Amino acid sequence: MSSPAPRPTAPPVSRASVVIVGAGPAGLTVANVLRAAGVDCVVLEAESREFIERRPRAGFVEEWAVRALARHGLAERLLERAHTQGEFEFRFDGGRHPVRTARLSGRRHFVYPQPLLVGDLLAAYADRAGGAVHFGVRDVRLHDIDGPHPAVSFGDPVTGARHRIACDHIVGADGARGVSRAAIPEGRARITRHDHGVAWLAVLAEAPPSADGVVFGIHPRGFGAHMARSAHVTRYYLEVPAGDGVADWPDERVWAELHLRLAADGARPLREGPLSEKTVLAMHNYVVEPMTYGRLHLAGDAAHLLAPIAAKGMNLAINDALLLGDALIAHYKGDDRGLAGYSAASLRRVWQYLEFSQWLSEVLHGASSGDRFRAGTAMARLRRLLGSEAAAKAFAGLYLGEEADL
Ligand SMILES: Cc1cc2nc3c(=O)[nH]c(=O)nc-3n(C[C@H](O)[C@H](O)[C@H](O)COP(=O)(O)OP(=O)(O)OC[C@H]3O[C@@H](n4cnc5c(N)ncnc54)[C@H](O)[C@@H]3O)c2cc1C
Repeated sequence: MSSPAPRPTAPPVSRASVVIVGAGPAGLTVANVLRAAGVDCVVLEAESREFIERRPRAGFVEEWAVRALARHGLAERLLERAHTQGEFEFRFDGGRHPVRTARLSGRRHFVYPQPLLVGDLLAAYADRAGGAVHFGVRDVRLHDIDGPHPAVSFGDPVTGARHRIACDHIVGADGARGVSRAAIPEGRARITRHDHGVAWLAVLAEAPPSADGVVFGIHPRGFGAHMARSAHVTRYYLEVPAGDGVADWPDERVWAELHLRLAADGARPLREGPLSEKTVLAMHNYVVEPMTYGRLHLAGDAAHLLAPIAAKGMNLAINDALLLGDALIAHYKGDDRGLAGYSAASLRRVWQYLEFSQWLSEVLHGASSGDRFRAGTAMARLRRLLGSEAAAKAFAGLYLGEEADL
């Protein structure tokens, strides 16, 4: 999928208080929060509006994040249209093992495809509040981020002319492949990387779900997962060897492996359908510390990438955006404590989620690791989770996300 031909955009302003690079969940949430408080900002997005409103990705939003968006008036459509999930199922050795996360934690996941959330946030910011967004921008560059007068420049998608917007602060919310992170000079931020050593093939099937919610299949051939997205669309994941490409996985092979890895006594057979999206995702993570350098504040995947093992990335992006939005508003009222503490506050939740993701990765991938020690300890974790109410409660709290940072 690639962006359609760009349309001419109105000339940008030459100055704004805040320039936000990237119109994903992080950038658009900050933009909405700032706009509602009267802080002028401009959003620069490399793709077209049509493209970002269709790009499939995340599906699970944690309840605390939904409530926080609702407090800012940004969750009306989500609350109307999302369905919620309060349990999931592990399958292994031919058995089915439900985990009733809502009963254990008192909270639920909201299932709401990311492009719908992006569409809602754009409608609120650009259509209803009249906020400025430039789509299809080319070659974004950040200038003077370590001084008091930073700026962002970019190429016009149609004419190629370069525009420059002077500002007080830059929000780098341009995701894992953006330019903001790279604007921090070498040695001024620590980047910690971790690789789980496996990849997942992510597919979207135009087929109704074959179970009520999420199914995690743990199998010596590799992990497999089923996630209901809507009445007509189901997301599936298959663990594949690192380095495999989409060409290694023709549709028949995908379905054959899914049938094997998700099989269990009494389970409904999988309902097949055309595969509308097929991507191989490397299961790796990185964290940038600190997330602020001079007048540049990173948010979301630009600052920390989490492999989608525990479905946490978009939730962290929303958390960053709300913290940063509040901190910038306070800054314009003369209080800089929020900005000074932004990075540390965000990273507390990031590291909690990374630890949980790492724990879950071992549970999901241990059986297929080929390492008897990892397989044995993964099964011990799983049996403890399924056999102990206290362990299950601790797990459910982390899986559903805690309201307050730990
Ligand atoms: C298959 C999959 C499933 C996932 N499932 C979940 C889930 O269930 N729950 C969950 O919480 N997370 C999930 N995630 C993670 C989630 O999608 C990301 O964490 C989330 O998109 C991060 O939001 P963001 O705003 O930081 O970045 P992005 O959504 O990546 O947005 C960044 C924006 O910046 C734009 N951009 C990039 N470069 C530039 C540039 N140079 N100039 C201008 N704009 C630029 C991009 O086009 C994009 O629109 C999943 C991810 C994948 C891949």
